[in-house]
Amino acid sequence: MSAQSVKLSGWVNSIRAVGGIVFLEVIDGGSLDIYTVVVKKSRNPEVWQRASKIKTGSAITIRGTIPEVQVSKRGLEVHATNLEVLAEPIDLLPLDPAGTTPALLDTIIEHRYVALRMAKQRAIFRIRAIVASAAREYLESNGFLEVHTPKICGAGAEGGATLFQLDYFGRRAFLSQSPQLYKQMLMCGISRVYELTPYFRAEPHSTIRHLNESWGIDVEMGFIDSVEEIMGILEGLIAHVFARVKEVASRELDALGVKLSEPRRPFKHLDYSEALEILKSLGFEIDWGQDLGSTEEKAIGEFMLKEGYDAYFIVNYPWDAKPFYIMRKGKLSAAFDLDYKGLELASGGQREHRYNELVENIRIKGLNPDDFSFYLKAFKYGMPPHGGFGLGLDRLVMVITQSQNIREVVLFPRDRQRLLP
Ligand code: ATP
Ligand code: MG
Repeated sequence: MSAQSVKLSGWVNSIRAVGGIVFLEVIDGGSLDIYTVVVKKSRNPEVWQRASKIKTGSAITIRGTIPEVQVSKRGLEVHATNLEVLAEPIDLLPLDPAGTTPALLDTIIEHRYVALRMAKQRAIFRIRAIVASAAREYLESNGFLEVHTPKICGAGAEGGATLFQLDYFGRRAFLSQSPQLYKQMLMCGISRVYELTPYFRAEPHSTIRHLNESWGIDVEMGFIDSVEEIMGILEGLIAHVFARVKEVASRELDALGVKLSEPRRPFKHLDYSEALEILKSLGFEIDWGQDLGSTEEKAIGEFMLKEGYDAYFIVNYPWDAKPFYIMRKGKLSAAFDLDYKGLELASGGQREHRYNELVENIRIKGLNPDDFSFYLKAFKYGMPPHGGFGLGLDRLVMVITQSQNIREVVLFPRDRQRLLP
């Protein structure tokens, strides 16, 4: 058997010279593969000469051989027979791509493109892509059609306070906060749709779980018997995504030091009222009808984890705490949230599909049905019972990669401070 020859293109993450040998740690262009490139003066003085002058961060192409016996522990060893420098940095690198010196999150975000030379960074964004494709896979196999609804809109989903405004040829327009109204209108003509979509929300958050531009997996299904059917699809989707990531991203999970376990099924259904009881026992005072804030969600998450549940639905929310399009059931509603270890991943529910009741709901919420006429029209032509959910893609990636801050899993996050890069 002879040594295998390779061509390798990537970046030099670190350099070490010992006597007549130069060691380059090189990260491959796209994979998680790290190579230790060995250049010996005795073997090829001219290539060695070039290697000794190389700068950390350079983009290079190497030709060489992989020896049968591997000595290096850091990465796959390659003995260079040729080396070409394609681009040298003209500035010092803003962070250490070898990861020996850890970088601050702010530095990573500002220089994400360089940070992507770190195995951990690549692992996160490879997992993000796997999550998106696994979600598509699951939904397609369940008969959902991928759709694309407008992101420049003439009206918001729930009122107006949280919308980014823009000038649309002299008219007031908004960036879409959610595809809610459009995906519901589609239920008048097709029974299962989904969309991977940005959500633009002008809320002045400063938290580790909110961004002003986030991404969601939005699903809507018609001809349903009850809200349970929707929760079933969401549970199946989450389970499929976790299983897929475990199956195809074991190297990425290893790189992140994450031991991923699939959520316990069936997901626990926790009544909103039960959630309040739990909170009361933990010393929280929440009035019936109020929405749960992050502190409360976290407390419930810890409680549920002790009971052995990582993922759980909170069901039977008071209608007052939910938007107009959710079906009202007396004081309660057909809405649910899906939380994972105290973080809200998704909200959903059965919608009001009956025209008159929907108009009434809009009025009760203090909104003007005239502002929603484009939407209400779709309910005049045989709208079936339907429902769906919005699942936060960033938050899902956050929990799978066990990241502490949503900004870790978004390449170029948009928050109150960040508009560039
Ligand atoms: P929260 O209560 O956490 O602020 P929400 O109830 O306002 O979220 P929904 O309208 O229910 O959000 O949106 C559906 C899902 O989209 C949420 O469960 C969450 O996973 C995600 N999401 C919503 N807003 C944001 C945001 N600003 N940043 C990141 N993810 C978000
Ligand atoms: Mg919600």
